[in-house]
Amino acid sequence: MRLPNRVALVTGASSGIGAAVAQALAADGATVVVNYPGGSPDAANVVVKTITDAGGRAIALAADVSKEDQVQAMFAETIRQFGTLHILVANAGIQQDSPFADMTLAQWQRVIDVNLTGQFLCAREAVREFLRRGPQPAMGRATGVIVHMSSVHEVIPWGGHVNYATSKGGIMQLMKSLAQELAPQKIRVNSIGPGAIKTPINTSAWSTPEAEQKLLTLIPYNRVGEPADIGGLAAWLCSDEADYITGQTIFMDGGMTLYPGFATGG
Ligand code: NAP
Repeated sequence: MRLPNRVALVTGASSGIGAAVAQALAADGATVVVNYPGGSPDAANVVVKTITDAGGRAIALAADVSKEDQVQAMFAETIRQFGTLHILVANAGIQQDSPFADMTLAQWQRVIDVNLTGQFLCAREAVREFLRRGPQPAMGRATGVIVHMSSVHEVIPWGGHVNYATSKGGIMQLMKSLAQELAPQKIRVNSIGPGAIKTPINTSAWSTPEAEQKLLTLIPYNRVGEPADIGGLAAWLCSDEADYITGQTIFMDGGMTLYPGFATGG
């Protein structure tokens, strides 16, 4: 176990990548807060049950990450129940796709609010708690660890998804600037940039053999990723094994960022 007794909060953990990250952190010993955006707690409770059935510790907490008051209430409740926080995985994200000329301000704003402002709000609350608590060497070499869930689209442009790609490009500078500012306080900040991972956000891209075959033309390693791939990376990145890594995006994409269209000479 690489994260014994750490307290971790994973946003958007009721589905897909967030659920797998929550399970991986718990399997490494962390107590995990499984955030979901409100509404029915059923999906979040399933994730909590999976963790507790395996002998881990987890609770579900609702908060829309784009709402400052809800984010602050979620962090306050986490600290009330568990005393502090050691790890934040800011994972919650959405897509609202549209050709650019038809994109409404509401579509633009909602994606920026959840994917970028939500990561700012959660990172700020985590940093406030890390600084308040200070170093706790028995809980790892870093005073606190933040992992932002970015995307290959922080570097690969994505027509028809301008709001989403812009939010992920913003996460890159949010993460790097935070990492630069907070390294002296021993707070590590990194991003994971997933390629295509099988989750509900992109079902249409892999749910039929034809769609999956088309998707695979973009993936040199020739398989679509699974949420557990990202879970394993997140747990390692949060652990002391990765203590000297800060300010980096680790792409986990089967080679999607290798410009596979140039594989035969362009
Ligand atoms: P997903 O299965 O749709 O999961 C998204 C999660 O975020 C769900 O738990 C969702 O809850 C939650 N969420 C949505 N809006 C929220 C809000 N305002 N506040 C709190 N939680 C909210 O998608 P996913 O693929 O796992 O995506 C997770 C992250 O990975 C996203 O940041 C996404 O951009 C990134 N990513 C995914 C891929 C991929 O191929 N799947 C690739 C690159 C990056 P509900 O289900 O209740 O709405």
